[in-house]
Amino acid sequence: MPHPNLNYLRSEILPTIWCPGCGCGQILNCLIYAIRDLEIDMNKIVTIGGVGCMSRAPAYLNTDAIHGIHGRALAFATGIKLANPELTVIILMGDGGCAAIGGNHLIHAARRNLDVTVIVNNNGNYGMTGGQVAPTTPIGGTTTTTPWGNVERPFDLCKLVEAAGGTFISRWTTAHPTQLINAIKKGIKHKGFSFIEVVAPCPTHFGRYVLNLREPVENLRWLREHSVTKREAEKMSEEELRDKIIVGDFVEKRLPTLEERYLELEKKVRSKS
Ligand code: SF4
Repeated sequence: MPHPNLNYLRSEILPTIWCPGCGCGQILNCLIYAIRDLEIDMNKIVTIGGVGCMSRAPAYLNTDAIHGIHGRALAFATGIKLANPELTVIILMGDGGCAAIGGNHLIHAARRNLDVTVIVNNNGNYGMTGGQVAPTTPIGGTTTTTPWGNVERPFDLCKLVEAAGGTFISRWTTAHPTQLINAIKKGIKHKGFSFIEVVAPCPTHFGRYVLNLREPVENLRWLREHSVTKREAEKMSEEELRDKIIVGDFVEKRLPTLEERYLELEKKVRSKS
């Protein structure tokens, strides 16, 4: 009997391009469970990716989809959401597309409180192009472009989006599938800019060169062992938190969305004309 989630996928283009044990598949799976639980009509969903391993995900989902250009997924999302606010717009991207080339789009979409859901696979490197250093690579991380160790501080993506104005912000890892599914559900239901960071394994590059862990299961175990909840983190020192991943839902507040502000403006202009 076929798996019930196959309905959510374009099975004709499977298998995926992803390496065995890659977090991209785990994130896609959690997203499908979230969409299934929320019973959203797949015809009302648009998924958007840029370029990179995670950005390939919209090609596999049975929704209207854009596999666009690197770092510009949020520019497409802004146009689509403003043209048809009834659509559920979900952006799937990697940490490079999100915080490097796409960093400007990210902060402005958050500032505007665009009502979309961004799911970012943070695997700490550029996986698709060979494991180069990214704005999320930890200090000391050995990648193909930092063979002696990375000297740059990584972004805290959730804090970046919070400072820019995001109104739902959450971080989990792929070793927390239940919490991740719940966070995606909350993010989709939230009115406003939802940002879900998923710290996920890239066993082919990050696992192998930064963590020295080759097996996918060892990568997942590492994520679980290095995660602390935001409540646990409150009692820990900066030193104790140095190689830890703080997980939890960090921000949830209701503010007018960009679409709502435009509708309000339209009413005002019409009433004066
Ligand atoms: Fe996944 Fe890394 Fe392989 Fe890309 S290179 S598919 S991120 S494991």
